[in-house]
Amino acid sequence: MTAILSRRSLSLFFTLLALPASSFAGTLRIGVFGLFHPRELTLRPAPQSVLIIEGDGRRLILADGREARLRVAGRVLECQDGEYALTASVLHAESRHGGPAEFVLSVPGRISRAYRGMLGVTVHDGELVPIVTMDLEAAVASAVAAESPPGAALAALEAQAIVTRSYYLAARRHHDFDFCDTTHCQFLRELPSIVSPALIATKRTRGLVLLYRGEIVPALFSASCGGRTRSLSDVGLASQAYPYYSVACEYCLRHAAVWTAVLSRRHAEDLASGEPTEAKRLRIDRQFGWSTIPGNNFTLETAGESLIVRGTGQGHGVGLCQLGAWGMASEGQSFQDILNYYFPNTSLGDADNSARTSSPHTEVRLEPSR
Ligand SMILES: [Zn+2]
Ligand SMILES: [Zn+2]
Repeated sequence: MTAILSRRSLSLFFTLLALPASSFAGTLRIGVFGLFHPRELTLRPAPQSVLIIEGDGRRLILADGREARLRVAGRVLECQDGEYALTASVLHAESRHGGPAEFVLSVPGRISRAYRGMLGVTVHDGELVPIVTMDLEAAVASAVAAESPPGAALAALEAQAIVTRSYYLAARRHHDFDFCDTTHCQFLRELPSIVSPALIATKRTRGLVLLYRGEIVPALFSASCGGRTRSLSDVGLASQAYPYYSVACEYCLRHAAVWTAVLSRRHAEDLASGEPTEAKRLRIDRQFGWSTIPGNNFTLETAGESLIVRGTGQGHGVGLCQLGAWGMASEGQSFQDILNYYFPNTSLGDADNSARTSSPHTEVRLEPSR
């Protein structure tokens, strides 16, 4: 998991600068590295730049080539750069002009990522909570790159970019920040390079969102539906403003991965009784590991004390099917065709002129099983 700052990572700083300024209220607060439960972080500015770190009214200037060490110190956090240190309940880091800065944030020995944005760090339950406020379009490109299978055709990535943007604009999953960087919300790593298909797809669909009755849909997606997508009620979830629809997915039917899980009937009683639901699948996955029941398209068979689960595809199967979108795109269909197909009764619109949905986001979980 550990990544070092490579030449490619350095180019990200300049790629970000190449993105045009957002024309709508386009920033997101992304909670990063939560999976690592960090008690220590390191922070360094991008080459040829400076970071201004502020906490409880005191400032520390972190120059190019320097690295600050942030660690939990009781209920507060301590930031140290050589002989200089400051202790505060909240730290902010930004450029010398008071705006977004380019920096590298690391959990020592675990992970290191380059970001452009404003960094805030607090302490919660003995852990550091880093939050990067970043441009919406940069977040979309980063999530499209992280969430898409390698080699996906451009139209599939364009459809994914619109789904990702719609989700970011219409859903909210956390209290202290808008979204996390894991598949709980959407997987987000660094911004991809300027020549990456994910960034190109994001730019080509800039500002476009999926609408239902004039409101942005907090659009869902999964890796592969296994042959038919599902409505929210199909997977036991209360219908929201957009109910989703079940559509046949021919490409997935022929190409989705087939899997089998054998569970003890005693442990899987929940799954065997009544209709299978997304909540039941996730309860099993939480208990036995995230790939135990990879998707919602399965049949059950009892064999003595065992329950044999045979399935096809990966994920909840609601909304965009990435594998199906790949198939449509490789047959020459456009992102409009793909979105029309997987999101019946929706339209495309400009985020600037659209209402964000006011209904609470559905609790479909985009968990690591996808
Ligand atoms: Zn989340
Ligand atoms: Zn499918």
